[in-house]
Amino acid sequence: MIHAKVFLKKGKEISIQRLHPWIFSGAIQRIESNAIEGGWVEVLDFKGTTLGFGHYQNGSIAVRILSFEIQPPEDDFYVKRFYAALLLRNASGLPSDVTNAYRFIHAEGDGLPGLIIDYYDGVVVIQAHSAGMHNDREKISEALQKVFGFHLKAIYYKSHGTLPGKMRDDNTEGYLHGMAVVPHIIFENNVKFYIDWEQGQKTGFFLDQRENRKLLGGFSKNKKVLNTFCYTGGFSIYALHAEASLVHSVDASQKAIELTEKNLELNGFDKSIHQCFAQDTFDYLKDKQDEYDVIVLDPPAFAKHRDARHQAVRGYQRLNTEAMKKIKQGGILFTFSCSQVVDRQLFYDTIVSAAIHAGRQIKVLHHLSQPADHPVSIFHPEGEYLKGLVLYVE
Ligand code: SAH
Repeated sequence: MIHAKVFLKKGKEISIQRLHPWIFSGAIQRIESNAIEGGWVEVLDFKGTTLGFGHYQNGSIAVRILSFEIQPPEDDFYVKRFYAALLLRNASGLPSDVTNAYRFIHAEGDGLPGLIIDYYDGVVVIQAHSAGMHNDREKISEALQKVFGFHLKAIYYKSHGTLPGKMRDDNTEGYLHGMAVVPHIIFENNVKFYIDWEQGQKTGFFLDQRENRKLLGGFSKNKKVLNTFCYTGGFSIYALHAEASLVHSVDASQKAIELTEKNLELNGFDKSIHQCFAQDTFDYLKDKQDEYDVIVLDPPAFAKHRDARHQAVRGYQRLNTEAMKKIKQGGILFTFSCSQVVDRQLFYDTIVSAAIHAGRQIKVLHHLSQPADHPVSIFHPEGEYLKGLVLYVE
């Protein structure tokens, strides 16, 4: 199973000893025998002491450490990791009587860099972000079947958009086990959603906003709510369940708008109190003054890499300034960033700057993050990608 030995330069062992799982290519002194793309390697310090084992990949992150033990991982490696992940979810109250969909594996947060798995009531969707996880997909599938047993109807592999370009072939999309009909219905806090992993974005649904959607409910009664970047309409439907007087949903993608409409229907809401707009959020906001009591801004990651960070910050600033200017007096703004490279402090500073530009008095009511099924290893703070604020705009 272990193909090669990767020796680190002197001093580069420190971050590994602190259990951070990434080894950048510049930290490598030499590799003994051939490291295969996506193969398992042993990682050693410059003196030859074993530091751990992980997946090798040609790229800026050359090794993703999967085990910090000195013994090589055994055949039941994935099974053990999956049981540990299940224990964490169960300790967090997932699944429950009201929620039957959750993130089962959150990459580094579950000791499995490169691997995302979402569970949708009997169906799991795997998203590999590394060559190693792609290579190991059959082992992962077997381990999932062992851990979930007969409860598992299907395993869908969806990695076409997340693997490096050269790896995107016919094997990056499709069922690894069983089959299930899409769309599939799940419950989240008793709200129903259609899930389509075959056509949808990412694994089909954004499970990371579960608690923030619930919180929005508490601010929505008798309010006019605008949900921008709505995708499947998650925030919109929670606002309607909480008796908002009117909800408008905006997304640039016509497909997303169709999903929102289907989910509204599934939850029994008619068009008298809800309208959808397939439009760019910036364009939509242009001529809307003092129309909404509550606005949700949940854009896609404006920056996926460090180089794009400055541009992303300007994007967040412009978007938030616009919403702050347009919202009614005494309005509530739910604002988010899911860019990993924009950390909590930078996001906060960007919002402060937007408030200055908008010329509004603003109070922070809540700091938001991702829920417990998206855990963050304390040694890998980069795992905290979702940042949000609830603001009161005077
Ligand atoms: N809030 C959603 C997730 C948002 S994902 C939820 O709770 O599930 C981001 C969405 O933004 C995508 O659906 C994408 O189509 C949409 N989008 C991207 N750029 C946009 C823009 N400029 N204006 C409006 N929508 C946009």
